[in-house]
Amino acid sequence: MRTAVSTLDLARPTSLDQALRILREEERTPLAGATDLYVALNFGTLEPKRFLDLWALDELRGISVRGDTLVLGALVTYTALIRSPLVAARLPMLVEAAALVGGRQIQNRGTLGGNIANASPAGDSLPVLVAADAVLVLRSADAERRVPITGFYTGYRKTVLRPDELIVAVEVPPVEGRQHFRKVGTRAAQAISKVVFAGVGGAAPRLAFGSVGPVVIRARATERALTEGAAIEEAVRILEGEIVPIDDLRSSADYRRRVAGNLLRRFSRA
Ligand SMILES: Cc1cc2nc3c(=O)[nH]c(=O)nc-3n(C[C@H](O)[C@H](O)[C@H](O)COP(=O)(O)OP(=O)(O)OC[C@H]3O[C@@H](n4cnc5c(N)ncnc54)[C@H](O)[C@@H]3O)c2cc1C
Repeated sequence: MRTAVSTLDLARPTSLDQALRILREEERTPLAGATDLYVALNFGTLEPKRFLDLWALDELRGISVRGDTLVLGALVTYTALIRSPLVAARLPMLVEAAALVGGRQIQNRGTLGGNIANASPAGDSLPVLVAADAVLVLRSADAERRVPITGFYTGYRKTVLRPDELIVAVEVPPVEGRQHFRKVGTRAAQAISKVVFAGVGGAAPRLAFGSVGPVVIRARATERALTEGAAIEEAVRILEGEIVPIDDLRSSADYRRRVAGNLLRRFSRA
């Protein structure tokens, strides 16, 4: 290990207001469960710099329903998602996704906000949130704004989040229709996704794919075709044109394209 928390410059606020004030005044990188950040530090791809430790901010750990909206705090861990009856009732595909993230240690430390802000196109919660039309609540010391998750990512690992902002919550409207989640990796557990898919069935299906482009995508053209009654093979052809997978050390573009098509076929049969 190249780093230990004790050697890092950590600010440890005890309230969200205090955290946001620090972020306004100092350049600091937020640190939640540190499961992504620590990997980057140890690989040397992230210069050790000044961090803002969010872990004590219990006000970001809530899971609740406000009106008809499910509200998930940014610091909600995968374990909390797996154990939540509210999430199981309203967004079971997120429970499925959480149960397939890493192992128990990662599930205990890794947070939903961290998965979103890390902005990897392979983040397992992202297709779920995209298929569910989730909205991110971003807050700075001076303002709060709501950004649909589909507008949050602007390119590979790029987001609209400003340096003085935190993701504080995720709002999920009611999801009508059958929910479906599928992750394809090298093995069933402890694997980064080669393709990850979340879908909501019904007369107007919603389809979201991760690991098939620089950002998680909503397959809108494919959705439109299915809504208008296209046969599944026609929809698969449209999907194959809509995604832009790459060759990398985990998989080939061709394999990813085929798997995405198969996931859509399976979704249409379920
Ligand atoms: C062994 C291992 C297995 C893994 N398996 C999976 C897997 O199966 N699927 C998967 O998707 N991921 C996986 N991951 C990646 C990681 O665990 C997740 O992305 C996790 O959700 C990150 O959350 P965190 O709280 O640890 O984020 P951190 O590492 O603390 O932060 C990640 C990024 O988000 C920023 N950030 C964190 N919280 C906020 C916030 N509230 N507001 C603004 N910015 C914020 C940080 O500045 C940083 O840039 C794995 C990682 C490891 C080490």
